[in-house]
Amino acid sequence: MFQANAMTTVGRNSQHVAVIGAGAAGLVCARELLREQHKPVVFEQSTAVGGVWVCEPNNASSHSPMYEGLVTNLTKEQMQFSDFAFPDACPEYPKRAQVLAYLEAFADQFAIRELVRFRTKEIGRAHV
Ligand SMILES: Cc1cc2nc3c(=O)[nH]c(=O)nc-3n(C[C@H](O)[C@H](O)[C@H](O)COP(=O)(O)OP(=O)(O)OC[C@H]3O[C@@H](n4cnc5c(N)ncnc54)[C@H](O)[C@@H]3O)c2cc1C
Repeated sequence: MFQANAMTTVGRNSQHVAVIGAGAAGLVCARELLREQHKPVVFEQSTAVGGVWVCEPNNASSHSPMYEGLVTNLTKEQMQFSDFAFPDACPEYPKRAQVLAYLEAFADQFAIRELVRFRTKEIGRAHV
């Protein structure tokens, strides 16, 4: 699910790139852009990384379709990024909070969080 396809930028200039959303897709997109010496900025309308895995069951304004006790329907090996494994201690079918912790760890490992502009909803072309 979380596979990333690296693109080579050999011979190309470093670019400022807007990434919309700090869910799984946005996080790995930003990481791959960094690897290729680009300068991503991630625009995230909420206050957290993790996208749909962020769930605040006691927050009436939370719009997450997930619920606190949700367990994944795929194994962690099927879900994980190809070069960033779930912890060994994590069960084969992680709980929602464990997937969120995994995505947060990914963001921290690759210093993505500091590239995120939270509470920023992108509604048109980005000017970075
Ligand atoms: C109930 C449920 C159960 C699931 N179970 C599994 C499972 O077991 N295994 C599995 O592999 N997948 C599962 N999924 C699929 C899940 O959606 C993906 O795993 C993955 O998290 C999707 O990541 P994403 O980054 O594409 O989208 P999202 O996680 O939705 O992230 C998108 C982000 O972009 C932000 N955003 C959107 N528009 C804007 C904007 N205009 N400006 C700024 N920010 C914006 C949002 O706030 C959000 O943070 C499930 C999904 C649901 C709903």
